[in-house]
Amino acid sequence: MQGLDVYGLLLIMLILFLISSLLRTLLERRRVGKEEYETKTLIKCPKCNYSEERNFQVGDYVLKPEKKCPKCGETMRIHRIYAVKIASRK
Ligand SMILES: [Zn+2]
Repeated sequence: MQGLDVYGLLLIMLILFLISSLLRTLLERRRVGKEEYETKTLIKCPKCNYSEERNFQVGDYVLKPEKKCPKCGETMRIHRIYAVKIASRK
């Protein structure tokens, strides 16, 4: 019975340690989250002005030819690359 108590105590200590480290991680993540940005790329069709937004990909640059426009078939080009603030988690 005594052995069980020691293991129970160790288990409680382990759980407390896990909870405290979890809380620390959550607090750190929240602090970082305030200044988190996401890079977006806006591609636009020069012919009919149709535009699409997608996540930035490595190698993207302004005026880079992209896929064909789904409306008129003209080659769309990257119009703008910008960063948007990620909405705070609720
Ligand atoms: Zn078009």
